[in-house]
Amino acid sequence: MNKYQEALDELCTCTEGWNSEHCCSHAEWRQASEYLENCRKLLQELVDRATPKKVLNMYMFVYMNEYTVKTGQCPFCKRGLGINEVTKSPKFCPDCGQALEWTDADAK
Ligand SMILES: [Zn+2]
Repeated sequence: MNKYQEALDELCTCTEGWNSEHCCSHAEWRQASEYLENCRKLLQELVDRATPKKVLNMYMFVYMNEYTVKTGQCPFCKRGLGINEVTKSPKFCPDCGQALEWTDADAK
């Protein structure tokens, strides 16, 4: 189980019975709130990672005089993105899992 799943599970467990007026004391509530905030941040991290970000220093070149391929740098870990398949650029960084967006703002 990864930390995101763990955070999500904890969040779900903690929020059970939130509608109840007598679920916990003020101190417990405060502690739970802080804990949930931490969980929320982890989930935000996951959401961010899953949201495509623009590839850095993206450039196109012609491979084997036949295919136009794109390459660049991961926007999160700055890893150089190799070409895995001739006609496709990776949708996720093979190193950190960042979702990648290959659209070129200057192209259209
Ligand atoms: Zn990366």
